[in-house]
Amino acid sequence: MVKVTFLPEILKARANKRNTAMNNILKIGLDIHGVIDTFPNRFKLLSSALVKDGAEVHIVTGVKRDDRIEKLLQDANIHFTHYFSIVEHLEATHVTIEWQDGQPFADEKKWNSAKRDYCKAQSIDLMFDDSAIYRDTFHDIDTTFLHVINR
Ligand SMILES: [Mg+2]
Repeated sequence: MVKVTFLPEILKARANKRNTAMNNILKIGLDIHGVIDTFPNRFKLLSSALVKDGAEVHIVTGVKRDDRIEKLLQDANIHFTHYFSIVEHLEATHVTIEWQDGQPFADEKKWNSAKRDYCKAQSIDLMFDDSAIYRDTFHDIDTTFLHVINR
């Protein structure tokens, strides 16, 4: 059996999609190291204002959401709605991670493009990050990369 879709249905679906896009809530991504932990007060104010306004605030970082990170975000009073970790993502997709002195090492290409892939998949509008390595992976997606200078 083939499902026949009539044109009005297609148009309605398209209009719904457009409306969703027009009512699109702002989605921002925040890196932790060199961004939140460097400017905790600014990102506390920004994240709290945005979450209050109904925006999505995604933490987009390398590290797992462990107790240390939980405490860091809580102490800084960062408001967020989602959490993405490269390590957790690579583990979930069965990419080998080697640990040396507590530091993760994995396929460089997969590691470096993980934030980009997440921002693309989630339609993040603005990504705040201090890394030029990640910045260079954002050139072909719709997310605006805001390079935080912290030196
Ligand atoms: Mg960083």
